[in-house]
Amino acid sequence: MKAKRAVKDRYDELIKLIEKYNHHYYTLDAPLVDDAEYDEVLKELLSIEERYPELRLDGSPASKVGGAVSSSFAEVRHDPPMQSLGNIFSESELLEFDARIKKTADIADSIIYSVELKFDGLAVELVYRSGRLVQGSTRGNGEVGEDITANISTIKDIPKTIPSENAPDYLTVRGEVYMRHEEFERINREREAEGESPFANPRNAAAGSLRQLDPKITAGRDLSIGLYGIGKIEGGPNIGDQRSMFDFFKNAGLPCSENMEMGGLDEVRRFYEYWMRNRHSLGYDIDGVVVKVNDFSIREGLGSTSRAPRWAAAWKFPAQEAVTVLNSVDYQVGRTGVITPVGNLDPINIGGVLVKRATLHNFDEVARLDLRIGDTVRVIRAGDVIPKVIAALPEGRKGDERQISPPESCPSCGFSVRREEIYVRCVNENCEAKRREGLRFFVSKDGLDIEFFGPELIQRLYEAGLVRNAADILRLRAEDLLAIERMGEKLSEKILASIDKRKRIPLSFFLRALGIRNVGEHVAKVIARSAVSLERLIGMNENDLMTINEVGPGVAESVVEFFRAPENKRLIEEMRAAGLVVEDEAVETGSIEGVAGKSFVFTGRLERMDRGKAEELVERLGGRASGSVSKKTDYVVAGSEAGSKLEKARSLGVRVLTEEEFEKLTGGKR
Ligand code: NAD
Repeated sequence: MKAKRAVKDRYDELIKLIEKYNHHYYTLDAPLVDDAEYDEVLKELLSIEERYPELRLDGSPASKVGGAVSSSFAEVRHDPPMQSLGNIFSESELLEFDARIKKTADIADSIIYSVELKFDGLAVELVYRSGRLVQGSTRGNGEVGEDITANISTIKDIPKTIPSENAPDYLTVRGEVYMRHEEFERINREREAEGESPFANPRNAAAGSLRQLDPKITAGRDLSIGLYGIGKIEGGPNIGDQRSMFDFFKNAGLPCSENMEMGGLDEVRRFYEYWMRNRHSLGYDIDGVVVKVNDFSIREGLGSTSRAPRWAAAWKFPAQEAVTVLNSVDYQVGRTGVITPVGNLDPINIGGVLVKRATLHNFDEVARLDLRIGDTVRVIRAGDVIPKVIAALPEGRKGDERQISPPESCPSCGFSVRREEIYVRCVNENCEAKRREGLRFFVSKDGLDIEFFGPELIQRLYEAGLVRNAADILRLRAEDLLAIERMGEKLSEKILASIDKRKRIPLSFFLRALGIRNVGEHVAKVIARSAVSLERLIGMNENDLMTINEVGPGVAESVVEFFRAPENKRLIEEMRAAGLVVEDEAVETGSIEGVAGKSFVFTGRLERMDRGKAEELVERLGGRASGSVSKKTDYVVAGSEAGSKLEKARSLGVRVLTEEEFEKLTGGKR
């Protein structure tokens, strides 16, 4: 009896907790916990309901769709209701899902599934009458959503009409509105500049942008949509499966993802694994894949629970965000002397990786987030980048948290530091930490790209006194490497071969590896193309450099300062003595006037060329390929179905080229 009482108490507690989380997530668009923690709590609730069905409350959060309906919007009733999805978190749960379907549908053969990306945004429904968009609404609680027609109409991706030959009399489609990373960053920069708090993640930004009372605000945000379902269709084609539905969408000009696959469990697994690895290439967030029975008639037989269809499941990726405690802060000196605060955390598993440290960016950011040592913090890990702390959760404060202040002297050399805008910088040219970081950079992918030469090896060689500057790296011998603990002969041979391979390099490559302030890969290329030889570059003064397109006073000053410093002159001599040959930069002849120094943005679907190759060509010809359109853009090359970038180009008066015109401009080069 007592035990049951305890379960009931826990059950009530979980319900309160979930309702609180739901309110913050769906109504305020500002979650209190990360999705993984939320999913854990929901899972616990579900397992109690399964074991003790008599405890289940009517309207339990496990049996309904979690969203809210704000009274600021008119209500829209969904017919049929817009549901949520059941979750699976592992391969064994995928097998269980498959077995359940076969059993319920009484099918012995393998089931054909469609598998799609699970966009991380918010669900909406669009209504088209005779091909005209007449209404847009949020999912709300599934039965009733919010009327956001005016806001939806500002999304450029959403067609206002469907061509008449494809337009059913009545059509409701469902999809997810989301925000691309580029736009998310732009909006957060804007918000910060205006003193507003930035959005925690693109999902919240998308939801916050769409659920606005003033559609002008929505119009100022570049939102995207991926459609994945039909609610109702009348007076239109008979669509019998998911694949045909996607084909119908495409023909009707309704935006849906190119990335979907059909097949059995193997294809589902492959798709999941592929996108788990490559999700960062999409430029927007997905939080998993959605597995659906392809055939609509089988779906009908399976039906749904009050919360989710039985014929579909969300196979979630391991969480990339987590909440943990910030225990202490180290000051890390970078190669340019910038001192970055780095947090030591209670170790936490994020997406399969144990995270112990995370960057706090800079001291302005620390102040903006009001981070303190001892705080409970939210940490994200995206791709291969260093995890970062993105928020403090002040609710958990006990009062003994400590302020994080910028250092007054360099933690490595003790030299005084200088405040430069948002950065705190060590200005000692001989700071050991700066040197070590410079060496790490020199061998890294962004530098000389020496294979098998990681930061740890630099650290060991440095500590052993074997490497002090970049020339020492080029001079390394087998016996030096073999003196390092755990270094085998094979590996040392590979490292030496890789160093040898990098002893003959073009000027741009050399220039970027030097790690001169303000000179990244692109600027290094621009300068090298103009200077051609190292000798000429060394002889250039600031005015000479500033005649190069894209080189401003900041870059010119850093370059001249670098080559003027006696220690750097010596270093270059030493590198040459160690066998380094800096080759003249190869410049394409038949100079293409319209490309060099010009910036290009490609948009839409290109039919005649591959976008990556076209961008490469631009760079090769001395131009710059960029992802977003601004006043500084010289040309936008628009393929078919070009969207918001094309519109922006037009509104800014940027010259728009067709693919053919671009080919002419580049002299038919490939
Ligand atoms: P969900 O997001 O897990 O899955 C259902 C939704 O997925 C659908 O409604 C649809 O909008 C979306 N979706 C995206 N791509 C799709 C596709 N290709 N096909 C079909 N649907 C697609 O479920 P939910 O009910 O919206 O939200 C519950 C989830 O939200 C939880 O599991 C949790 O991860 C998160 N949540 C978090 C908090 C929090 O505090 N962190 C609070 C509430 C909910």
